Amino acid sequence: AAKADGKGTWTRYRPQLYESAMERVRLRTSLDTAIGKDEFFLCYQPIVDLRGGKERVAGFEALVRWQHPEFGLLTPDQFIPLAEETGQIVQLGEWILARAIADAARWNAGRAGTATRRVTVNVSAHQFLDDGLVNWIDRQLGDAGLPSDLLILEITETAFLHHHGPEVQQNLHALSEIGVRIAVDDFGTGYSSIAYLRDLHIDILKADRSFVARIAEDSSHLRLLKGIVTVAYALEIDVVAEGVETVAQRDLLRKMGCRYAQGYYYSPAVPVDRVAPLAAELEGRSR
Ligand code: C2E
Ligand code: MG
Ligand code: MG
Ligand code: MG
Repeated sequence: AAKADGKGTWTRYRPQLYESAMERVRLRTSLDTAIGKDEFFLCYQPIVDLRGGKERVAGFEALVRWQHPEFGLLTPDQFIPLAEETGQIVQLGEWILARAIADAARWNAGRAGTATRRVTVNVSAHQFLDDGLVNWIDRQLGDAGLPSDLLILEITETAFLHHHGPEVQQNLHALSEIGVRIAVDDFGTGYSSIAYLRDLHIDILKADRSFVARIAEDSSHLRLLKGIVTVAYALEIDVVAEGVETVAQRDLLRKMGCRYAQGYYYSPAVPVDRVAPLAAELEGRSR
């Protein structure tokens, strides 16, 4: 459903899903059957390697969408928090991981070495508490034929801060043992230090888009991000700048030596059949 917003443009109508207990219950109930009814799908947003003369698409982040029969197209913010609350995220998270691994195996078929493109998947803290997680992932990788070093798992900084028990540490360690990389998502929105992340076997830090948003206008934001990049690299942690929307931001990131960029400047998330053509397009465009 869509409605005019009064300024002559059309926006998708988004019901306030948490408005009433009734709607919450309806959403929760429909979550239970949504996987079976094939209502979820993944879109993929490119992550670009800025290093060297020619930009390269190093990988894609999987972002889940829900084509709800009654509420329309839902973005993750509209149902992931609920799924986390109810525990339904565990089943949904497995579906997402399995699908992303299968998709990445397909887009990497016949590619090798520097031509491969990684997939990075958002994982909730709940999933990390499961002690069967790493074995399960290892099996999925084997079944799909995806090398483990082409998979990255993203966990938000705040999830890390609230769940740092022994299960989480064990899982992190086991994942690094099998070659799966770990990224801290939305870095800068919590209060963790980079040194602490290093102790947790973190490979990649994703600087939150609130940092990146103002680097071109505000020199204090620019200095802050430069500092993060410098410290991260000293600890051999890679950095992805999120939410890159302008060429000015991209240029500043290159200049400060930030290796990876992701954002609307390159592309929003696209359906899986657009992954290969989009990568070719981005790598071919003149700058
Ligand atoms: P995130 O992991 O930080 O993902 C980036 C979000 O920022 C995505 O929104 C993406 O579309 C948006 N974005 C990307 N580039 C730009 C940009 O240049 N400007 C702006 N303004 N936004 C940009 P999306 O897809 O709505 O996802 C929102 C959040 O939902 C994600 O944040 C992630 O935390 C969560 N999420 C998404 N997919 C999954 C999933 O499969 N599992 C779990 N557990 N969480 C997910
Ligand atoms: Mg993410
Ligand atoms: Mg992020
Ligand atoms: Mg973010």
